Amino acid sequence: MSESTSNKNSHTSHDGEKEDINGTFSPRPVLPIKRSKLSGTGSDFYVGTPLQTRVASPCTLNPPIDSDGLSWPSRGARGRIDQTPEEALAREARIAGAVKVILEEVGEDVDREGLLETPERYARAMLFFTKGYEDNIRDVIKRAVFEEDHDEMVIVRDIEIYSLCEHHLVPFFGKAHIAYIPNKRVLGLSKLARLAEMYARRFQVQERLTKQIAMALSEILRPRGVAVVIEATHMCMVSRGVQKTGSSTTTSCMLGCFRDQQKTREEFLTLLGRK
Ligand SMILES: [Zn+2]
Repeated sequence: MSESTSNKNSHTSHDGEKEDINGTFSPRPVLPIKRSKLSGTGSDFYVGTPLQTRVASPCTLNPPIDSDGLSWPSRGARGRIDQTPEEALAREARIAGAVKVILEEVGEDVDREGLLETPERYARAMLFFTKGYEDNIRDVIKRAVFEEDHDEMVIVRDIEIYSLCEHHLVPFFGKAHIAYIPNKRVLGLSKLARLAEMYARRFQVQERLTKQIAMALSEILRPRGVAVVIEATHMCMVSRGVQKTGSSTTTSCMLGCFRDQQKTREEFLTLLGRK
């Protein structure tokens, strides 16, 4: 179950565009997102394709970093970032109200002791689980891009990730392994984990999470190649329906020399202990 991403049509090509070191990026145009692609109506389907597949996600069609430093922001990301403390409280109260409805509809007594503060607690938890929408990539990277004459593979293994499946709103969690081969520029090691955390704390599918981490790192460092592998357990799989306890899902995204050169890819997989 390996998912790979072509670099050819994405916006991560290494063609000469420069950005300053230390995480400031020259603005580049953001592709307009067609309304119809966001609306979720039946017209989004490509009629005529054999499987009636949906259009590609705007989350990876657009460049990794937009002009003001947000990275694939959700529709309401700007509203969350710019909210006043009063607006934040009102948002929390609206989420809590919705949770109360859910509790009532499943047949619970919302006034019993154990559930009294659950809606508010859940609202705060949900905002935490999705805090990655508010992350600005410049703050995430800060001053951690360094000029360094190092051209060997850098790997950080076993980065813990906790995310929410966007189809069921239940957790999936596991380990991410991130590798790159520098092109005179390296990123502070802890920032790789921060990058993974930023995209994981959003509603995700594992394939997109994998791709977003790889594309963002590629954009930040313009390295010779990037590889990301994620192994995760999905609560929607193991706790309901098919109930395949212990099953895990592996996704990968290889860019640049990891994609083009079998030797590099094999070295990476060997170092991961997967070969
Ligand atoms: Zn799911």
